[in-house]
Amino acid sequence: MITGRFAPSPTGRMHLGNVFSALLSWLSAKSEGGRWLLRIEDIDPARSRQAWADLIMADLEWLGLTWDEAPLYQSQRSDVYQHYYDLLRRQGLTYPCYCTRADLLATQAPHESDGRVVYAGTCRHLPPQPADRPAATRLIVPDEEIGFTDGHYGYQSVNLSRHVGDFIIRRKDGAWAYQLAVVVDDGLSGVSQVVRGRDLLLSSPQQLYVARLLGFPQPQFIHLPLLINAAGQRLSKRDSSLDMGALRQHHTAAELIGRLAHLAGLQPEPAPATPEQLLAAFSWQRVPCADITV
Ligand SMILES: [Zn+2]
Repeated sequence: MITGRFAPSPTGRMHLGNVFSALLSWLSAKSEGGRWLLRIEDIDPARSRQAWADLIMADLEWLGLTWDEAPLYQSQRSDVYQHYYDLLRRQGLTYPCYCTRADLLATQAPHESDGRVVYAGTCRHLPPQPADRPAATRLIVPDEEIGFTDGHYGYQSVNLSRHVGDFIIRRKDGAWAYQLAVVVDDGLSGVSQVVRGRDLLLSSPQQLYVARLLGFPQPQFIHLPLLINAAGQRLSKRDSSLDMGALRQHHTAAELIGRLAHLAGLQPEPAPATPEQLLAAFSWQRVPCADITV
Protein backbone atom coordinates (compact mmCIF):
# COMPACT_ATOMS: atom_id res chain seq x y z
CA MET A 1 0.00 0.00 0.00
CA ILE A 2 1.23 3.48 -0.85
CA THR A 3 1.96 5.77 2.07
CA GLY A 4 2.18 9.40 1.04
CA ARG A 5 2.74 12.43 3.18
CA PHE A 6 2.52 16.19 3.36
CA ALA A 7 5.14 17.92 5.45
CA PRO A 8 4.60 21.67 5.84
CA SER A 9 6.78 23.97 7.90
CA PRO A 10 4.64 26.02 10.30
CA THR A 11 6.33 29.30 9.46
CA GLY A 12 3.32 30.98 7.89
CA ARG A 13 -0.06 30.42 6.29
CA MET A 14 -0.19 27.97 3.38
CA HIS A 15 -0.35 29.59 -0.06
CA LEU A 16 -1.77 28.24 -3.28
CA GLY A 17 1.48 26.46 -4.17
CA ASN A 18 1.48 24.55 -0.87
CA VAL A 19 -2.13 23.53 -1.43
CA PHE A 20 -1.26 22.36 -4.96
CA SER A 21 1.42 20.05 -3.52
CA ALA A 22 -0.91 18.82 -0.78
CA LEU A 23 -3.74 18.10 -3.24
CA LEU A 24 -1.59 16.15 -5.72
CA SER A 25 0.14 14.22 -2.95
CA TRP A 26 -3.26 13.35 -1.45
CA LEU A 27 -4.70 12.33 -4.83
CA SER A 28 -1.64 10.26 -5.71
CA ALA A 29 -1.86 8.21 -2.51
CA LYS A 30 -5.64 8.04 -2.18
CA SER A 31 -6.30 7.14 -5.83
CA GLU A 32 -4.30 3.97 -5.17
CA GLY A 33 -6.12 3.25 -1.91
CA GLY A 34 -3.12 4.41 0.11
CA ARG A 35 -2.56 6.30 3.33
CA TRP A 36 -1.68 9.98 3.61
CA LEU A 37 0.26 11.25 6.61
CA LEU A 38 0.79 14.74 7.95
CA ARG A 39 4.10 15.83 9.43
CA ILE A 40 4.65 19.25 10.94
CA GLU A 41 8.24 20.23 10.12
CA ASP A 42 8.78 22.55 13.08
CA ILE A 43 12.42 21.62 13.33
CA ASP A 44 13.61 25.20 13.33
CA PRO A 45 12.46 26.53 16.69
CA ALA A 46 13.26 30.13 15.81
CA ARG A 47 10.87 30.19 12.83
CA SER A 48 8.12 27.71 13.75
CA ARG A 49 4.91 28.53 15.60
CA GLN A 50 2.19 26.20 16.86
CA ALA A 51 -0.36 28.81 15.80
CA TRP A 52 0.74 28.35 12.17
CA ALA A 53 0.56 24.56 12.53
CA ASP A 54 -3.00 24.91 13.82
CA LEU A 55 -3.96 27.11 10.88
CA ILE A 56 -2.37 24.73 8.36
CA MET A 57 -4.39 21.83 9.79
CA ALA A 58 -7.58 23.89 9.85
CA ASP A 59 -7.02 24.87 6.21
CA LEU A 60 -6.38 21.25 5.15
CA GLU A 61 -9.57 20.11 6.88
CA TRP A 62 -11.53 22.95 5.27
CA LEU A 63 -10.21 21.84 1.87
CA GLY A 64 -11.18 18.22 2.53
CA LEU A 65 -7.58 16.97 2.54
CA THR A 66 -7.80 14.63 5.50
CA TRP A 67 -4.85 12.70 6.94
CA ASP A 68 -4.78 9.22 8.41
CA GLU A 69 -2.81 9.28 11.66
CA ALA A 70 -1.98 11.76 14.39
CA PRO A 71 0.38 14.34 12.90
CA LEU A 72 4.05 13.95 13.66
CA TYR A 73 5.86 16.98 15.12
CA GLN A 74 9.55 17.09 14.35
CA SER A 75 10.18 19.28 17.40
CA GLN A 76 9.25 16.30 19.61
CA ARG A 77 11.65 13.86 17.96
CA SER A 78 15.09 15.06 18.98
CA ASP A 79 15.96 11.73 20.68
CA VAL A 80 15.11 9.85 17.49
CA TYR A 81 17.28 12.12 15.34
CA GLN A 82 20.11 11.84 17.88
CA HIS A 83 20.04 8.04 17.55
CA TYR A 84 20.42 8.10 13.76
CA TYR A 85 22.92 10.96 13.89
CA ASP A 86 25.08 8.80 16.17
CA LEU A 87 24.81 5.92 13.67
CA LEU A 88 26.24 8.18 10.95
CA ARG A 89 28.99 9.44 13.25
CA ARG A 90 29.98 5.89 14.15
CA GLN A 91 30.37 5.10 10.46
CA GLY A 92 33.12 7.74 10.42
CA LEU A 93 31.26 9.77 7.81
CA THR A 94 30.88 13.06 9.66
CA TYR A 95 33.10 15.92 10.74
CA PRO A 96 32.67 19.28 12.45
CA CYS A 97 32.51 22.35 10.23
CA TYR A 98 33.38 25.74 11.67
CA CYS A 99 32.71 27.79 8.59
CA THR A 100 30.54 30.87 8.79
CA ARG A 101 28.21 31.88 5.99
CA ALA A 102 30.76 34.53 5.04
CA ASP A 103 33.53 31.89 4.91
CA LEU A 104 31.45 29.75 2.59
CA LEU A 105 30.69 32.61 0.23
CA ALA A 106 34.30 33.81 0.26
CA THR A 107 35.91 30.47 -0.58
CA GLN A 108 33.52 29.07 -3.16
CA ALA A 109 31.82 30.36 -6.25
CA PRO A 110 28.07 29.91 -6.11
CA HIS A 111 26.79 27.15 -8.35
CA GLU A 112 26.10 28.78 -11.70
CA SER A 113 22.53 27.73 -12.19
CA ASP A 114 20.79 28.55 -8.94
CA GLY A 115 23.16 30.35 -6.57
CA ARG A 116 23.78 27.35 -4.34
CA VAL A 117 27.20 27.03 -2.79
CA VAL A 118 28.97 23.70 -3.26
CA TYR A 119 30.87 22.98 -0.05
CA ALA A 120 34.52 22.30 -0.88
CA GLY A 121 35.33 20.21 2.19
CA THR A 122 37.32 23.01 3.86
CA CYS A 123 36.98 21.59 7.39
CA ARG A 124 37.30 17.91 6.50
CA HIS A 125 41.02 17.74 7.27
CA LEU A 126 41.37 20.29 10.07
CA PRO A 127 43.40 19.31 13.13
CA PRO A 128 41.28 18.83 16.30
CA GLN A 129 39.75 22.08 17.51
CA PRO A 130 38.77 23.19 21.04
CA ALA A 131 35.69 21.21 22.08
CA ASP A 132 33.69 24.33 22.87
CA ARG A 133 34.19 25.92 19.47
CA PRO A 134 30.74 26.01 17.83
CA ALA A 135 30.50 23.69 14.85
CA ALA A 136 27.96 22.30 12.46
CA THR A 137 28.24 18.62 11.52
CA ARG A 138 28.67 17.65 7.88
CA LEU A 139 28.16 14.29 6.22
CA ILE A 140 30.85 13.16 3.78
CA VAL A 141 29.36 12.43 0.35
CA PRO A 142 30.75 10.00 -2.23
CA ASP A 143 32.18 11.00 -5.61
CA GLU A 144 29.62 8.97 -7.52
CA GLU A 145 26.39 9.46 -9.42
CA ILE A 146 23.29 8.83 -7.33
CA GLY A 147 20.37 8.16 -9.63
CA PHE A 148 16.66 7.59 -9.23
CA THR A 149 13.63 7.45 -11.47
CA ASP A 150 11.32 10.30 -10.66
CA GLY A 151 7.67 9.39 -11.02
CA HIS A 152 7.00 12.48 -13.14
CA TYR A 153 10.31 13.74 -14.58
CA GLY A 154 11.95 10.38 -15.28
CA TYR A 155 15.54 9.41 -14.58
CA GLN A 156 17.58 11.89 -12.54
CA SER A 157 21.20 11.58 -11.51
CA VAL A 158 23.45 13.80 -9.44
CA ASN A 159 27.04 13.57 -8.29
CA LEU A 160 26.77 14.87 -4.74
CA SER A 161 30.46 15.52 -4.43
CA ARG A 162 30.44 17.78 -7.47
CA HIS A 163 27.04 19.46 -7.15
CA VAL A 164 26.35 19.65 -3.42
CA GLY A 165 29.44 18.80 -1.40
CA ASP A 166 29.47 17.40 2.12
CA PHE A 167 26.20 18.62 3.58
CA ILE A 168 25.04 19.62 7.03
CA ILE A 169 23.11 17.14 9.17
CA ARG A 170 23.27 19.17 12.37
CA ARG A 171 23.44 22.93 12.45
CA LYS A 172 25.85 25.03 14.43
CA ASP A 173 23.03 26.08 16.77
CA GLY A 174 22.32 22.42 17.53
CA ALA A 175 19.14 22.19 15.42
CA TRP A 176 18.75 19.03 13.33
CA ALA A 177 19.12 19.60 9.63
CA TYR A 178 16.26 19.00 7.21
CA GLN A 179 18.10 16.30 5.22
CA LEU A 180 18.56 14.11 8.30
CA ALA A 181 15.14 14.59 9.91
CA VAL A 182 13.19 14.02 6.69
CA VAL A 183 14.91 10.71 5.95
CA VAL A 184 14.47 9.44 9.50
CA ASP A 185 10.82 10.47 9.63
CA ASP A 186 9.94 9.08 6.20
CA GLY A 187 11.78 5.85 7.01
CA LEU A 188 10.19 5.28 10.40
CA SER A 189 6.70 6.30 9.21
CA GLY A 190 6.83 3.88 6.29
CA VAL A 191 6.45 6.69 3.73
CA SER A 192 6.81 5.05 0.33
CA GLN A 193 5.91 7.99 -1.94
CA VAL A 194 7.17 11.56 -1.67
CA VAL A 195 5.32 14.14 -3.77
CA ARG A 196 6.71 17.70 -3.70
CA GLY A 197 7.74 20.65 -5.82
CA ARG A 198 10.55 20.23 -8.30
CA ASP A 199 12.55 22.88 -6.45
CA LEU A 200 13.43 20.00 -4.12
CA LEU A 201 14.75 17.71 -6.89
CA LEU A 202 18.31 18.15 -5.69
CA SER A 203 17.35 17.12 -2.16
CA SER A 204 16.31 13.70 -3.38
CA PRO A 205 19.77 12.24 -4.05
CA GLN A 206 20.94 13.62 -0.70
CA GLN A 207 18.04 11.91 1.02
CA LEU A 208 18.57 8.67 -0.92
CA TYR A 209 22.18 8.67 0.21
CA VAL A 210 21.25 9.20 3.89
CA ALA A 211 18.56 6.52 3.62
CA ARG A 212 21.11 4.11 2.18
CA LEU A 213 23.55 4.76 5.04
CA LEU A 214 20.81 4.29 7.65
CA GLY A 215 19.29 1.20 6.02
CA PHE A 216 15.89 2.72 5.23
CA PRO A 217 14.02 1.68 2.09
CA GLN A 218 14.05 4.26 -0.68
CA PRO A 219 10.75 6.02 -1.26
CA GLN A 220 9.48 6.81 -4.74
CA PHE A 221 9.96 10.49 -5.52
CA ILE A 222 7.42 12.32 -7.66
CA HIS A 223 8.23 15.96 -8.29
CA LEU A 224 5.71 18.57 -9.35
CA PRO A 225 5.86 21.58 -11.62
CA LEU A 226 5.91 24.82 -9.66
CA LEU A 227 3.14 27.37 -9.62
CA ILE A 228 4.58 30.67 -10.78
CA ASN A 229 3.25 34.21 -10.89
CA ALA A 230 2.97 36.42 -13.96
CA ALA A 231 6.58 37.52 -13.47
CA GLY A 232 7.74 33.91 -13.68
CA GLN A 233 8.60 33.65 -9.98
CA ARG A 234 7.65 30.71 -7.82
CA LEU A 235 4.69 31.52 -5.57
CA SER A 236 5.81 32.29 -2.05
CA LYS A 237 4.65 33.89 1.13
CA ARG A 238 5.29 37.23 -0.58
CA ASP A 239 2.23 36.69 -2.78
CA SER A 240 -0.11 37.43 0.07
CA SER A 241 -3.22 37.56 -2.13
CA LEU A 242 -2.70 33.82 -2.73
CA ASP A 243 -2.36 32.76 0.89
CA MET A 244 -5.13 30.76 2.48
CA GLY A 245 -6.26 33.63 4.65
CA ALA A 246 -7.04 35.77 1.60
CA LEU A 247 -8.24 32.88 -0.56
CA ARG A 248 -10.78 31.70 2.02
CA GLN A 249 -12.37 35.15 2.06
CA HIS A 250 -13.21 35.01 -1.63
CA HIS A 251 -13.61 31.33 -2.54
CA THR A 252 -15.24 28.15 -1.38
CA ALA A 253 -13.09 25.08 -0.80
CA ALA A 254 -14.59 23.43 -3.90
CA GLU A 255 -13.71 26.47 -6.03
CA LEU A 256 -10.08 26.34 -4.93
CA ILE A 257 -9.76 22.58 -5.37
CA GLY A 258 -11.45 22.79 -8.77
CA ARG A 259 -9.14 25.59 -9.92
CA LEU A 260 -6.04 23.66 -8.82
CA ALA A 261 -7.31 20.49 -10.48
CA HIS A 262 -7.73 22.47 -13.70
CA LEU A 263 -4.16 23.83 -13.42
CA ALA A 264 -2.99 20.24 -12.85
CA GLY A 265 -4.67 19.08 -16.05
CA LEU A 266 -7.21 16.96 -14.21
CA GLN A 267 -10.31 18.72 -15.49
CA PRO A 268 -10.93 20.78 -18.63
CA GLU A 269 -12.58 23.68 -16.78
CA PRO A 270 -11.94 25.15 -13.33
CA ALA A 271 -15.30 23.81 -12.14
CA PRO A 272 -15.80 23.39 -8.37
CA ALA A 273 -14.87 19.93 -7.10
CA THR A 274 -14.05 18.10 -3.91
CA PRO A 275 -10.85 16.07 -3.61
CA GLU A 276 -12.92 12.85 -3.61
CA GLN A 277 -14.56 13.79 -6.90
CA LEU A 278 -11.11 14.04 -8.53
CA LEU A 279 -9.93 10.57 -7.51
CA ALA A 280 -11.35 8.77 -10.54
CA ALA A 281 -9.80 11.21 -13.04
CA PHE A 282 -6.42 11.41 -11.35
CA SER A 283 -3.39 10.35 -13.38
CA TRP A 284 0.19 11.64 -13.32
CA GLN A 285 0.15 11.52 -17.12
CA ARG A 286 -2.32 14.40 -17.18
CA VAL A 287 -0.15 16.64 -15.00
CA PRO A 288 2.14 18.97 -17.00
CA CYS A 289 5.91 18.99 -16.50
CA ALA A 290 6.39 22.69 -17.29
CA ASP A 291 5.81 25.22 -14.51
CA ILE A 292 2.27 26.60 -14.32
CA THR A 293 1.37 30.29 -14.36
CA VAL A 294 -1.53 31.18 -12.08
ZN1 LIG B 1 33.71 24.19 7.17
